[in-house]
Amino acid sequence: MRQIKRLPAIDGQLGWFESVPFIRPMPVQQAEKNEHFDVIVIGAGFSGLATAGRLAELRPEARIALVDALEVGQGASGRNAGFIIDIPHNLDPTEPDAQANTKARDLNTFAIQRLQRIQEQQGLEVCWHQAGKYLAAHEEKHFSGLSDFVKTLEAIGEPYEILNGDALAKKLGTHYYKRAVYTPGNILVNPAALAISVASGLPPNVTLLENTPVQEIDLANKVIQTPKARLSANTIVLATNAFTEKFGVASNQITPIFTYASLTRPLNDNEMQCFKDKATENKATENIAPWGLTSAHPAGTTVRFTSDRRIFIRNTLNYQPTLSSTGTSLDKVKVKHRQSYLARFPQLPDVPFEYTWGGMICVTMNHQPVFTEHTPNVYVIAGMNGVGVAKGTYLGHYMAEYICGKQSPELDFILNHSVPSWIPPDPFRSVGAHIRLSFEEYMAKGEV
Ligand SMILES: Cc1cc2nc3c(=O)[nH]c(=O)nc-3n(C[C@H](O)[C@H](O)[C@H](O)COP(=O)(O)OP(=O)(O)OC[C@H]3O[C@@H](n4cnc5c(N)ncnc54)[C@H](O)[C@@H]3O)c2cc1C
Repeated sequence: MRQIKRLPAIDGQLGWFESVPFIRPMPVQQAEKNEHFDVIVIGAGFSGLATAGRLAELRPEARIALVDALEVGQGASGRNAGFIIDIPHNLDPTEPDAQANTKARDLNTFAIQRLQRIQEQQGLEVCWHQAGKYLAAHEEKHFSGLSDFVKTLEAIGEPYEILNGDALAKKLGTHYYKRAVYTPGNILVNPAALAISVASGLPPNVTLLENTPVQEIDLANKVIQTPKARLSANTIVLATNAFTEKFGVASNQITPIFTYASLTRPLNDNEMQCFKDKATENKATENIAPWGLTSAHPAGTTVRFTSDRRIFIRNTLNYQPTLSSTGTSLDKVKVKHRQSYLARFPQLPDVPFEYTWGGMICVTMNHQPVFTEHTPNVYVIAGMNGVGVAKGTYLGHYMAEYICGKQSPELDFILNHSVPSWIPPDPFRSVGAHIRLSFEEYMAKGEV
C-alpha cells in the first residue's frame, strides 16, 4: 500500500460553500464498512462528479463509489471564481489554432449545457447567470493581451464587443479598467452550490462517500484504505487534480499552484446607490448587473460582482509543495486583496471581506490535461489549468465513455490533446515555479 502523504484541507473560510443559498438535500455519508465496488472514483470535484455521473448512466447495473476527503463543494471545485468559461483562454502571443479552439469551445459548450440541464432538473438555487465575461486591462501595455484574444475569437467566429473608458465603467461600477473585450457565453455561478446540485442529481447506483480521505492506496490490486473502511474495486479513477502526484501518478506532468479569493458581505441599498452613481457620474438609471472579469495578464486579478451584491477578488499565485495554505499566507493575501479592492472600488471603502480562502489550480507546461489509462483499469484525469468547471465536466464525461469503450470524434480529440509536456522534479520544479510566478506577477503590475 502506498501512503498518501498530503491530504486535502480547508484553507481559510470557504465563502461560496458557507453562503450556499439552500439546505443540502442529501445527508453526508462516510465510508463505514469494508466493501467492493465495480468502480471507485476518487475526488468529487467537477471531474469526478461528471465521471461517476456518466458511468452510472452508461452502466446502470454497476456499483460506483465516489469518494472525497472533504464534502462536495469544499474542494477546489467549490472554491473557484465560479466562471464556467465557454471560450478557451488564449493569452499567448501565438497564432491561434482555430480548429483546436473551435473543438475546445464546442466541448465547453457541451459541459455548460450538461451542467445547466442538471441544475434545472435539481431546482436548487446555484446563482446561475449568463453574464458573459470581460477580459480587461488597466494598463495600455496589456492591450496586446486583449488583441490576442480578439484574434482567437475572430478565428472561431465568436461574437464580442470592445468597451472603453466610461462605457465600461457604466457596466462595471469602476473606472479602473481602460479597455475590455466582452464575450456573452460565459456563465457565472456559486460553484459550491453547483457542485452540490450536481452531486444531488447523481443516479442511485452511485454511492457518495464524503469526509473519507484515501490514506493509502494499492493501485495494482485496486484497494484503498480510508479511516474506517478498506474499499476495493475492479476499476479506479483518480480525479484528484492537484493531489494526483501524491498517488504516485503524473509526477512529471503537473504542478500544483495555490491561489486565493475573498468575498465581501453583500452591499446594502446605500452602497449600491454609491457604487452606481460614482462610476457613472449619476447618469445611470439602472442598477449595475452582476458581472465577471478576468485580467488581460495571466497573473492579474479576477473580479466579480455577484447576484447577491457581493464583490469577489482573486489573485496571487504561489507554489506550495505542502498542498495547504498557512494562516500567515492567508493574512498576507487578505492585505493584498484589500489593496486590489480599494484600487477598484474607492467609493466603497468600508465594505469588509466576509471570507478569504485558498485553493489549488493544477497546471501543466503546455496546458494539455492528463487523461489516460495509467495502468490496466486505473484511469487518471488531472491538470485542468484553472478552467476545470467546464473542462473537468467534459473530461469526466468522456473519461466514463473511454472506460466503457465508446468511441467518438470528441474522445479522439481529447486523447490527441492530452499529452502534457515533461516537468523536471523538485528542487528544479520548485525553483522554476518560484521564478516564473514572481516574474509573471511583476509583469502583471497594475492588473493585480
Ligand atoms: C481560487 C480559484 C479560482 C478559480 N477560478 C476558476 C474559474 O472561475 N473557473 C474554472 O473553470 N476554474 C477555476 N479554478 C480552477 C478549478 O477550481 C479547478 O480547475 C477545478 O476545481 C478542477 O476540478 P477537479 O474536479 O478536476 O479537481 P478538484 O476540484 O480539485 O477535485 C479534486 C478532489 O479530490 C479530492 N481528493 C484529493 N486527494 C484526496 C484523497 N487523498 N482522498 C480523498 N479525496 C481526495 C479533493 O478533496 C477534491 O475535492 C479556480 C481555482 C481556484 C483555487
